[in-house]
Amino acid sequence: MPNRAEQEALRAAIHSTPIIDNHAHPLLKREHLSKHALLTMTSEAHGDALPSTKSSLAHVRAVKQLSGILGCERTWDAVEKQLESKRGADWANWTRTCLQGIECVLVDDGLDGMDSAESYRHFDALTPGKSKRIVRIEPLVEELIRHHCSRIDKADDAFAAVVVELRATILEALCDTEVVGFKSVICYRTGLDIPAPEDRPEMVGNVVSTSPAFKTFARIHASRLEHPELNEYYVHLLAVCIRDSETETKKPIQFHTGLGDNDIQLTKASPAQLQNFIKTYPSVPMVLLHAGYPYTRELGYLAAMYGNVYADIGEVFPMVSRAGQEHVVRQILELCPWEKIMWSTDGHWFPETYFLAVVQMREVFAAVIGDMLSQGDVDQEEGVRLVEGVLFSNANRLYNLGLTMNKSTSACS
Ligand SMILES: [Zn+2]
Repeated sequence: MPNRAEQEALRAAIHSTPIIDNHAHPLLKREHLSKHALLTMTSEAHGDALPSTKSSLAHVRAVKQLSGILGCERTWDAVEKQLESKRGADWANWTRTCLQGIECVLVDDGLDGMDSAESYRHFDALTPGKSKRIVRIEPLVEELIRHHCSRIDKADDAFAAVVVELRATILEALCDTEVVGFKSVICYRTGLDIPAPEDRPEMVGNVVSTSPAFKTFARIHASRLEHPELNEYYVHLLAVCIRDSETETKKPIQFHTGLGDNDIQLTKASPAQLQNFIKTYPSVPMVLLHAGYPYTRELGYLAAMYGNVYADIGEVFPMVSRAGQEHVVRQILELCPWEKIMWSTDGHWFPETYFLAVVQMREVFAAVIGDMLSQGDVDQEEGVRLVEGVLFSNANRLYNLGLTMNKSTSACS
């Protein structure tokens, strides 16, 4: 049995290891905070599905935790009222409090509604380390298609112009020290079952596709890139650019997997659907996001078996219950080496999403890894290394951030 001092050392590591938040999104500008429902902090549900989130375990736990830090009654009404009152002169301090413990944020700023949001640089005033960008590929392509289709009549020529400029933009991002990776939401658009290039001859090398899908897209000037051939083509193009890049460390692609809103085709959201793509580009690092929830074991399997696959275990904090989070941590560790696992908040819009993620992660890590220590499955040193790897070292290495782990800069609460 480990003694108290060993459990305490583990707890100290969980609370003081600075966190590299490897996947999150911008905060809303203060004047736009009321545009989004606060209820979405713990749920991906929208519309008529959202109100019932009040009876989810994720929500009721968050109410208790938020009321604790706000010093108000343990009801959602009281919490909402207090959160709205924070949006005054104290806003910057409150935001900083919510981000305590986070060293730096890797920001995917390719969301819809970015007009209402702060830039990724905004985090620099809130965390000790500098934030970096993750470039989302789909909005980039959509912008290029809109631009070139508005000035070029012939679909084939417009397609060729998009490919040339997209390639140039990706190459520029590969050299940009502010950009540490890419992100694809193909999971949301056409699913993760991306065919291998040999199944789609037009995807090989630099051959320009004259696909009917592009002609349709060009004709209707759709604002959303959602045609299997096209989405797959551009993701292959991204992977080819990364594969062929000559830098010592290759910038990873983050893929949305699993947990998302009702826009997702759940049957095509399992990380296992991505296996062919993973095998096609063994030198391209891929981070599969959101614990692949509910397909967490599939994620752990892939990250264990492929050198280029990494498992992110974010978003489930605070989106699923405590028991669900504990299952996620246990399931990912069933097979997956801890040096392939990274943590993130998937924080977005509201600073409280970061706060909840950090507080809940600490509770769950203490319970699950503490249990492993009690059982003798890991010793104190291994438990601490696991924590430091998942929260800091693995992301520091993969995204080539070059940071030094300085525990004194991190809040211990
Ligand atoms: Zn996200």
